[in-house]
Amino acid sequence: MTFSCHGIGISASYSIAIGKVHRLERDQPTIRPRQIRSDETGNEISRFCDAIIRSRSDLLAVREQLPASTASDIVDFINTHLLMMEDQALTQAVEDIIKRDLFSAEWALQLRHNELIKVFDEMEDPYLRTRKDDLDHVVTRIQKHLLQVEDTSTDQNMEGKVIVARDLSPSDTILMRQQGICAFITEYGSPMSHTAILARSLNIPAIVGIKASTKLLHEGETIVVDGLYGIATASPEQRQLDQFKQRLQEERGKEQTLKALSKIPSVSTDGQPFELMANIELPEDIETALKNNATAIGLYRTEFLYMNRQTPPAEEEHFNAYAEIIENLDGLPLTIRTLDLGADKPVDNQHHDNCNPALGMRAIRLCLKETELFKTQLRAIIRASALGPVRLMIPMLTTVREIDQSRKLISDIQQELKVEGIAYDADMPVGGMIEVPSAALDAHNFARKLDFLSIGTNDLIQYTLAIDRVDEELNYLYDPLHPAVIRLIRISIEAAHAYNIPISMCGEMAGDPQLAGLLAGLGLREFSMQPNSLLKTKQALLATDFGQLTIQADKIFRALENGHHESFSDNILKMLH
Ligand code: PEP
Ligand code: MG
Repeated sequence: MTFSCHGIGISASYSIAIGKVHRLERDQPTIRPRQIRSDETGNEISRFCDAIIRSRSDLLAVREQLPASTASDIVDFINTHLLMMEDQALTQAVEDIIKRDLFSAEWALQLRHNELIKVFDEMEDPYLRTRKDDLDHVVTRIQKHLLQVEDTSTDQNMEGKVIVARDLSPSDTILMRQQGICAFITEYGSPMSHTAILARSLNIPAIVGIKASTKLLHEGETIVVDGLYGIATASPEQRQLDQFKQRLQEERGKEQTLKALSKIPSVSTDGQPFELMANIELPEDIETALKNNATAIGLYRTEFLYMNRQTPPAEEEHFNAYAEIIENLDGLPLTIRTLDLGADKPVDNQHHDNCNPALGMRAIRLCLKETELFKTQLRAIIRASALGPVRLMIPMLTTVREIDQSRKLISDIQQELKVEGIAYDADMPVGGMIEVPSAALDAHNFARKLDFLSIGTNDLIQYTLAIDRVDEELNYLYDPLHPAVIRLIRISIEAAHAYNIPISMCGEMAGDPQLAGLLAGLGLREFSMQPNSLLKTKQALLATDFGQLTIQADKIFRALENGHHESFSDNILKMLH
């Protein structure tokens, strides 16, 4: 019988996959308490060490098989698991339990796992909380070796299979991708979970968060995974299947067309130019950005420089990182965002003693409190401006006072450098992000004081709708088309135009081809996005008439202002189709 279930969709080059269900029923091995004699502890510890060595060699073998072109975050997943297996917090503690409490290695590991999971559960940060999946995967792998449970799930031919599992470990997902799986569905996961991140990196359509999917779906039945809408259709009728196949066919054709678009000038059907820029986090991201003809880096998230370390980077380290990117960009402008730590981007050495980090001491607030930390990065950015076109961008601005304070620090540093005879670009543009409703509503004053604006819709949506962006239970409220969000975007764009300064958007919304027309209708001409989204968005914009869209957007807003609130989303959707 045909039926559909819904989750969170993840699109790859093709949003649709059609395959046969392969259920991965890999329940956790059953671990029971087992007491040992004191003369057995040595043997138990060496069983444990042996299981770790075997588990590590499994992962090293997976890493070994990865082609050189593999995205860095995939390698990072494996490296994280390898590091966890070496971590004293896990290994030493298990050995201590074996010796002290005379428990078997697998039970000692289970006890340590439970303790660590409690620590993860108590973390305030929802992103970090989801990292306990990694701990689960690592522990399960070691326990299987201890219990000598054969794992044959990745040994078979997976060609054309859609994997349905409670959750997937990164290494298994990678192996199964190499063995030809065409999609996967998991019961757990949010858009920020590692499974979702992996699906994007591995270019596999997927749906995460379909509760009970391992029970609802039958082995071997045909299933269509629609990563665009997050809908899985099991045992589709012939007519539906034909429609899906046709969509897939069209998508394949489109991919070829997309590749051909990279060199075409970015101009709408009515002759209006637009600009497509890339968001990057690591220097490696530049390759895809350049391949897809990004005209600039519209957002360089510098947070990674601060992560997984105890002390913040020194000025030279910042400077060298920026210099490398500037060199690779070969003359294209680089927008360096000053550090945006806190909330969903915590650092190891940062303590959350406030109860609501998303509303707390983060980004520019932290920088203006810890000015030495801020000045180190500012000096490096200002020095880097001598090497190529650099723009400095400040995140999470809430008041114009923060702009004044930041500008003062910047000009003081420029003065210092001048005295020291160190080169910098005195005209380096200083811009700010519109991520908080107060900034959007006061955008005219922001535009007066800044050289450019960039709308960060990821945060603007969360703050406007009062929902934590990484809380999977609130996904249903995360709506970029909420009239309040669209109004704030419109106000910001109008403010920038009124003061004749550039405005771009660098939140995920900018790289959504379905919404590109709406944004163009609101007057946006600069879009900055994940490098993989550049060509799809370009294609959407190349096919639109900006003049017509502007007229339609005006009409929709007039209707909204006249109280026709109910039809707002419908009108927007009509405009986009
Ligand atoms: C945003 O908030 O839209 C944004 C681009 O910044 P980040 O996702 O890094 O918070
Ligand atoms: Mg943000």
